[in-house]
This record gives sequence, structure tokens and C-alpha cells, in this order.
Amino acid sequence: MTIDDIGFDPDELRDRYRRERDKRLRTDGANQYLDMSGDLAHFAEDDPYVAPGFTRDPITDECDVAIIGGGFSGILAGARLLEQGITDFRIVEAGGDFGGTWYWNRYPGAQCDTDAYCYLPLLEELGYMPKEKYAYVDEIFDYSRRVGEHFRLYDKTIFQTRVRRVWWDDDLQRWRVATNRGDDLRPRFVIMAMGTTTRPKLPGIPGIEEFQGHSFHTSRWDYDYTGGDTNGGMTGLADKRVAVIGTGATAIQVVPRVAEYAQHLYVFQRTPSTVGLRRNAPTDEKWFRSLQPGWQKERRDNFAAWSDGKRPEQDLVDDSWTDIFRAISSPKGADRPTTREERDRVVELSDFAKMEELRRRIDDTVEDRATAEALKPWYRVMCKRPTFNDEYLPAFNRPNVTLVDVGAAHGVERITPHGVVANGVEYEVDLIVYASGFQITSDFRLRLGVEIDGRDGLSLYDAWGKGQQTLHGFMTRGFPNWCYIGVSQNAFSLNMTSMFDEQAKHIAYIIGETVRRNASTVEPSQEAQDAWVDVIRGLQTTGSSFLADCTPGYYNNEGDRTESQFLGAYTPGLLRFTRLMEEWRSTGRMEGLELSLDE
Ligand code: NDP
Repeated sequence: MTIDDIGFDPDELRDRYRRERDKRLRTDGANQYLDMSGDLAHFAEDDPYVAPGFTRDPITDECDVAIIGGGFSGILAGARLLEQGITDFRIVEAGGDFGGTWYWNRYPGAQCDTDAYCYLPLLEELGYMPKEKYAYVDEIFDYSRRVGEHFRLYDKTIFQTRVRRVWWDDDLQRWRVATNRGDDLRPRFVIMAMGTTTRPKLPGIPGIEEFQGHSFHTSRWDYDYTGGDTNGGMTGLADKRVAVIGTGATAIQVVPRVAEYAQHLYVFQRTPSTVGLRRNAPTDEKWFRSLQPGWQKERRDNFAAWSDGKRPEQDLVDDSWTDIFRAISSPKGADRPTTREERDRVVELSDFAKMEELRRRIDDTVEDRATAEALKPWYRVMCKRPTFNDEYLPAFNRPNVTLVDVGAAHGVERITPHGVVANGVEYEVDLIVYASGFQITSDFRLRLGVEIDGRDGLSLYDAWGKGQQTLHGFMTRGFPNWCYIGVSQNAFSLNMTSMFDEQAKHIAYIIGETVRRNASTVEPSQEAQDAWVDVIRGLQTTGSSFLADCTPGYYNNEGDRTESQFLGAYTPGLLRFTRLMEEWRSTGRMEGLELSLDE
């Protein structure tokens, strides 16, 4: 194949990708972000969606299980516990309702990038038809409330309550859970279900505290200031100059909506995102009603098979995600490469071609040549979380929108009392919107923001000091009856709710069995835990070299080559992992777990 055949020069692209990565690498890596404590705590702890001044009396009581978090992972854990006959549990939720990430992230245009027929869990059980292929936040938030009502979880939940500390009380043989409301909960089991985008982060730009205008993080949108709601109507911005800092999956959705209303919008971009086609459409009711029982599992499994690189015969979801998976997975059948080198070469070329297509889309949409050039991403497609939107790129054709590219300068330089300094220029603004993301792959203490001490006062963060130590990603030795749902040493899935639900089922089974066997505690044996950690470490080599060549971001721990979210996952994928766990449960042996029996 010649360069003329494929339309690009692979050597040139490789070189360009390397240069774009190198110019963004920083010595402070993940430490460039601020922990939102002290003066900045309000950015993370304020809840703009509830009336101020809520108080209640502290609660002291015992229950079988405390589920920490009332997002989809928490409510799925509740639903699966009920299936196991465990009814005495409490959900503790920081927000004023269920919804989790969809409770907090009500910014304008917020939408799930995963097909709603896959993403919204339990659709068949609830008999619910999503309105569109990609659901907006209002619908998802309402749906999570509907799931809460269906399983009667409202009665079991305490809202507007932040867990501060969780510790094992050896005398009581129970966990103790302390909250910001002075509660002292004493459950036998704890399920951590805090989600993956729990704690917002701010970039460590000097001067943030000095800004005299208005500012907030995207996950705490202040509609009192902007006017309107998630669907638009932000008339409060008509005379406002607005800065959006960041161009990740959130900003891509925010920018076109703010552009519609702001007097002027400055978009501060450090690394461009890929912006694939959205192609949203209302649900075809006839098609939906024709689906046969079991359809949702089939669709979810099909999506998982594509994302695991399996290339099944059918593509039930058929969207820009599966298009990417097709581009970056090894061909099957007669075209199947015979050696690993050949496979890597074929996949790399196809990845280059996909990225060329995405860059052409920018040229075809954005009128100003310099802006179009600046918006082009130069890295392999899964280096950063891909985004999908049909309004973002056209927003840059509006006269009231300016792209400020700060990639070469390592980001925005400074915040002044009146605006944002980038590339040596001060942009005066009235509002700064930080679309700067979350503690997704950082140190666990930052991700969770809860102190967790196991037996003999051992902190979880010390136990995991040299990397997570778990059996199957769910439980850790020294932390009896403590279970973790989230991105862990198990299979990662882009369809988060599938992943959470499989985890919830497994954890509910373990708790159910422990109770049925009259055992007081359950925890992994040291041998089983070590063996699982070895399995996980053994799986990491390929992902590690791929991510090392990427521009920095949370996928590769901001360019720190030693750590990443996916370094630690069960890489054969969700379907293989689910099968493994089903087999594990089917033996009934609780292999690798130690149960201590009640006297
Ligand atoms: P990200 O972490 O993806 O993006 C943060 C942005 O802030 C990046 O563009 C980053 O640039 C930029 N930034 C950070 N520091 C600076 C600085 N000093 N100067 C200028 N820019 C800076 O956060 P998001 O909130 O966009 O997305 C987080 C995750 O949330 C997504 O990856 C996705 O998993 C999830 N999400 C899911 C959605 C869904 O559909 N289900 C929708 C929206 C979000 P750089 O890239 O250079 O670091």
C-alpha cells in the first residue's frame, strides 16, 4: 500500500502525534489539579439543586448493609440486595435525590453518549421506552427516580448526607459510618457505590480564588445566574462574557448551548477532543414494541462484545462508538493478521484513517481555517475519551465564539480578578465555567474523599498504597464485609451501568450467602487476593505501552507512564469477566473468601 492509496503518511502522523504529546507533558502530572478543600470546598460541596438550610436530627442505628451512594450503582446494589432477600439496608446519598452523576451534572445539553437502550438499566423490568437513542439528563435523572420508586428505595435512603468516615469496629463486629449530619450508622456490611465522576477537580491555575466575577464547575451549574435550564433559555447570559475552560466530553455538550445565549464565549482548549457524529433520533415506537424479551441483555452484550474487540456478526447499536471499535479492532476471517506485529500495524493504520476522517469533519464544518486547524486532535482515537456531538463544531462559526488554544502553553496561565490570562493575553469575562473534569483515575483518597479504616485501624489508602489489592476488584483483606463497586480490578465497560449491574449482582450474592451461612464476616484470603492481583498485573503490558504514547489526560494519569485507570482492569473485557464471576458463583464454594462463623 502506498501513501497515495491510503491518503496519509503514517510516519508523518506518528511523528506529529509524538510532538503533540511531548509539548503537553508536564512534570507535575496529576498534581496539577487542585483538591477542592479549604477555600475551594464550595466548588464541590455546594448543592445548587436543593433549597438551602436543610437540617435534620442525627441518626444512630444498626442495619445489615449501608450503601454509600445513590447513583445508578447504589440503586442497582439495592435492587440486587432485595433479590437476595436482604431488605434491611440504607442508602446514604450526598445529593437531594437519586441520580448520582445525573443529579449533579445538569449543565445545559448534558446527555449520555451511550445508546439509551443499553445505558438505562432494567428497561424491560420497568417497561420503559427511552424517548431518544441518546437520552438527555432530564430523562436519565427522572428514570433513576423511577427505578428508586420501583424498588421502594426512597424509604431506605437518607439524602443530603455526605459520608465522611467509615471504620471497622472490631468490638461490635460492624462498620461505623460517620456523616456530615452527625450520624452514627452501624451496618454489618458496607457497599461503596460512589461512581466514577464523584469528585470534581479544578485546574491548579494561579488566582482562581481572586476572580471577582462568577464561577462554578460544570457539575454544579448555577441556573440562578445563567437563567434557563438544561434545555436552554439562559437569558441571564445575554450581556455576559463567558469563559469555558476545558474541551472534554462535558465541554463539548456545554459549548453550543452557552454559545446560543452568551454575549461572547471564549473556549479555552488545551487538547482538542475527537468529535464524532451524534445522529440522535427519537425512538421508533414500532421497532421498540417489536423487541422480544431478553432484548436488552442481548443489546448490552453485543455492545460489550464490540468494545471488547470481538467484532460479532451483528452491530445492534450501530453508532459512532461501534464505528470506533470497528476501526481499532483486529479484522477477522480471511483478513485476519497472522502475527502480532501485523495486527498492530493493521490496527494502527485503521486508527490513523479514523482520525483522518474526524479531522476532515472539522475542515468540512468550521469555516475559519486557523480555528479548524486548532480544533484538530492529533493522537490515536482511544488516547482520550471520544466525544460525539453535531452542534459543537458549528458553534465556532458564530461571531460570538472564540477558540483560545492554550495547548503549547500547558493550559490557562492565570486567573485575574477580571478574567483569564492565556498565551499572555487577558480575556475579561463575567463568568468562568470550569469544565475541568473529575478525580477519575487519581489517587483513591482524592477519588472517594472518604476516610476508610479496616481492621486494626489500617487505612484503605495505605493498604492500596502500592496499587489496589482486591479479590476480583470487590473486596480487600483486612476490610471484612466491605465491598466496592466502580472502576476497579475487574472489567471496565464504557457502558457503565452494565458494569455496575454485574458488580452489584456479584456483591449482593456474596452478602446474601454470608448471611444465609450465618457467618459474621467475609473477606478474601491473602492467597486468593495475591493471586488475583497477579492476574491483573499480568494483563497490563499492552495497554501500558499504548497509553504511554498518548497526549496526557486522565486515561494515562496525565502522562505518568506508571499508572492509569485501565492499568488495573481485567482487560479481556466485561463479557469474559461476567462469565468468570457467574462460574464462580455457580460452584457455591465462595472460593478465595474466608467466612467467620458466628459462635
Ligand atoms: P475531562 O477530564 O475529560 O476534561 C477536562 C478538560 O479540562 C480537558 O479538556 C482538559 O484539557 C481541560 N483542562 C484541564 N486543566 C486545564 C488548564 N489548566 N487549562 C486549560 N484546560 C485545562 O472532564 P469532562 O468533565 O469533560 O469529562 C469527564 C468524564 O465524564 C468523561 O471523560 C466521561 O467519562 C464522563 N462524561 C460522560 C458523558 C456521557 O455521555 N456519559 C458526558 C460527559 C462526561 P486536557 O485534555 O489537555 O487535559
